Amino acid sequence: MSAHTFQPGPVHLLRVPTGDDLLGYLEDFVTANGIEAAWLSYLGAVQTAALRYYDQTEREYCDFHIHQHLEVISGMGNVSLLDDKPFIHTHAVFADASGRAFGGHVNHGCVVWALEVKIEEFEGPAPIRRFDEPTGLSLWHRPEPEA
Ligand code: ZN
Repeated sequence: MSAHTFQPGPVHLLRVPTGDDLLGYLEDFVTANGIEAAWLSYLGAVQTAALRYYDQTEREYCDFHIHQHLEVISGMGNVSLLDDKPFIHTHAVFADASGRAFGGHVNHGCVVWALEVKIEEFEGPAPIRRFDEPTGLSLWHRPEPEA
């Protein structure tokens, strides 16, 4: 078991412009602002959704699209370091006109209609992702003890 303890840092509220890529916009924002450790949440609507599902048996992502206008009911994610660069991991639940929900790991290709985002930064060394053999995923690695 490993845990990181942080002090709260700056909190950012942002609106993603209509037509922008949801994940791409957030990636550009965290890179431009040097954000390496954060938690994020968002809500709004998209014009189309691009999601992934991780197949635990095949140990690979299956990509799928939902080509319709959807509410973003609840999105959440985090920022940590992968290969020394800020990496966003985010999942979201979307709903159609009848309230049916879809969800998954958010991929590039979710086109924003309107989106309100909160990014809560943490002070201190960012969690680092490394390849995890049991899952085949890049997961948070236990921090090395300080010398
Ligand atoms: Zn995921």
